[in-house]
Amino acid sequence: MTEQLNPRSLILTIDDDDMMRLMLHDVLSREGFEVLSASRGSIGIEMIGAHRPALVFLDVMMPEMDGFDCLQAIRAIPGMELLPVVMLTGADDVDSINRSFQLGATDFIAKPISWPTLPHRLRYLLRASSALTRLAKSEAELRTAQKIAHLGSWDWTVADDNMQWSEEVFNVLEVDAADFQGKRQDLYKKLQSADADKLQQNLDSCLRNKHNFHQQFHVRHSQNSDHIVLMRGEPIIVGNQVTRILGTIQDITERQRIEEQIRFLSYYDPLTGLPNRSFFKELLGQAINYCNRYNTVLSALFISIDRFKRINETLGPSVGDRLLKMFADRLVNDLRDYDYSAIYTDYDLSMNEMTVSRLGGNEFAVLLNHIRDTRDSVKVAKRIFEIMEETFTIGQHEIFLSINIGIAVYPEDGGDEDSFIKNGEFAMGHAKQQEQNTYQFFSKSLNLAAFHKLSMENNLRRAIDRDELVLYYQPKVNMRINRVIGCEALIRWHHPEFGLIPPAQFIAIAEDSGLITDISNWVLDAACSQMHQWQVQGLPELVMAVNVSANQFRQHGFIDQVHNTLVRFEVTPEQLKLELTETILLQGIEEALVTLRELRVLGVHISIDDFGTGYSSLAYLKKLPISELKIDRSFIQDIPFNEDDMAITMAILALAKSLSLEVVAEGVEHEEQVAFLMKQGCEIAQGFLFSKPLPADEFAVFWQQFGD
Ligand code: C2E
Ligand code: MG
Ligand code: MG
Repeated sequence: MTEQLNPRSLILTIDDDDMMRLMLHDVLSREGFEVLSASRGSIGIEMIGAHRPALVFLDVMMPEMDGFDCLQAIRAIPGMELLPVVMLTGADDVDSINRSFQLGATDFIAKPISWPTLPHRLRYLLRASSALTRLAKSEAELRTAQKIAHLGSWDWTVADDNMQWSEEVFNVLEVDAADFQGKRQDLYKKLQSADADKLQQNLDSCLRNKHNFHQQFHVRHSQNSDHIVLMRGEPIIVGNQVTRILGTIQDITERQRIEEQIRFLSYYDPLTGLPNRSFFKELLGQAINYCNRYNTVLSALFISIDRFKRINETLGPSVGDRLLKMFADRLVNDLRDYDYSAIYTDYDLSMNEMTVSRLGGNEFAVLLNHIRDTRDSVKVAKRIFEIMEETFTIGQHEIFLSINIGIAVYPEDGGDEDSFIKNGEFAMGHAKQQEQNTYQFFSKSLNLAAFHKLSMENNLRRAIDRDELVLYYQPKVNMRINRVIGCEALIRWHHPEFGLIPPAQFIAIAEDSGLITDISNWVLDAACSQMHQWQVQGLPELVMAVNVSANQFRQHGFIDQVHNTLVRFEVTPEQLKLELTETILLQGIEEALVTLRELRVLGVHISIDDFGTGYSSLAYLKKLPISELKIDRSFIQDIPFNEDDMAITMAILALAKSLSLEVVAEGVEHEEQVAFLMKQGCEIAQGFLFSKPLPADEFAVFWQQFGD
């Protein structure tokens, strides 16, 4: 701020001497000042209140109220503590001069006045006054600022151990001004002994080495509140000596709390208390480094809650928030002890096995730090579906959530955090487009077949309920008389997106995932129900072959199930033929034998499917209560060109004849094959030459045409 002296500054003269007032007015006006005069003290005081002059000339000797009383009254007016008041005194009236200063006069001018020097003297006084006002103002500002910042300053003079504190130091250290001795020792009073020792060392070292220091310590205030205080010190060097140390003391409790809060807000989601997206990224980065170092695999599951926006809109954001919190809690609590993988004794287990984070909105992530392979991720995904199956109760609302999970695996699915997260979220988006409660791998993480398999498995689970499974029927034909003598039921999956899916693409998946039991049961039901329908429609009788899976065959109560199904659909046992592959029979042949005998007792026919591809020994074959062998298509397809296949076919036919078994040739596509088979005494065949597997109604038409 530059000094700006207003030439029109208002000057007030208070003097009972008319001549004096006139002279002052005249001289000062000519110098450019604005002048007001009062002939009595009381009038002067009123004018000060009303006009706020820049300076007052005040006569000491006045009737009624003399200059001293008047001065006291002026100083008592608020805001007038620093108003320059120049006393007009007698030349050698030392007593008056002394008294004036005691009462707060700024200066004095002895009468008779030296008029030529008066304006200079006046200007000097105004300038000094303005500097003083500014100083007072900045001191006040500093005090306020220190108070706001909880910052105090201290000043220690080394030579006489004189310590001075600003007001705020007392507040920060909570020291009573009465207990303050003004010594270095005062600083240690509220400190714990270790902190005090440290401060002593700091001060000594500052004296010796002449550099700054800072130190943080705790101060316990009377309300038992613990305050964190930061102290700084800086040496003032004169010559080669530290003469003073200046410093500050600041209460940084609040600042630290805010910093802590900022740290929390920048790393954690305040609603759920889980790590947020940026922290997740950091954790992922650490986990990736670990993977690179130890050559391990990690995976992350990206979970999104379906229709969360709708829940939020219909039930309100506070319910939405509570739901997210409950969701997060359930995720954390249930997964905490979930052991998705064998314990890795050779790895460093200090890293968390699993971390749950909230990536934003309705999106969460579970980081699996070590996995053996993708099966572990699938296990966790399934577990999450399980724990979210139970409804969430908020007030009177019962909320059912469905979720989708995208899975990414490192290192396959992206070399750095960003691409990894992007791919995981991409997979999550994909899962969302499919069904509720599905998981989806990022496609690169598995080879295509496995990827296919996983999404298939998810879909297959629902296929039964949604009536997507159908049976097709392929005729078994007696080639000699050109008549249909039976059929084989073959399953198809009518997928809403992929169309008709052949069993080769999903039976194995169904076997692996355990879904085969449900599917097999469905097939048996559907086949018998179809036979019943045909009977009702008045179609001639025929034997229907149904394929039996390994699991189904070994399922406890299989015999009862077959029996019950037959009874339920009023199908006679003789109309049903069960096709089993050699491999099914060879796995635990003794038990298989027991089941087969019971089936035989029931009256159901047994056929051995794909015969020739397994390793059935004749000895066993003899023991088996079977009625039919089906020569695998692989032996038929190259007839009449492959001598070996023809030899095998002939051998099977001879064997079947010796055991009195019927033989069906599978996969007959050409007339040459028919000719060869007929010549060898094989009359029954199945193949595209006669008909492909047909839907029930088309099969019925075919059968009416070629049935007997
Ligand atoms: P499978 O029991 O040996 O069935 C014969 C397969 O050969 C059928 O394939 C049929 O469409 C096919 N086929 C028939 N004639 C010809 C032909 O002339 N040329 C060619 N290239 N193929 C022919 P599909 O329907 O794809 O079934 C494949 C296998 O899936 C079946 O072999 C059977 O093992 C299994 N399967 C089918 N339906 C079921 C079922 O309901 N349950 C169980 N557990 N397995 C089934
Ligand atoms: Mg079959
Ligand atoms: Mg077969």
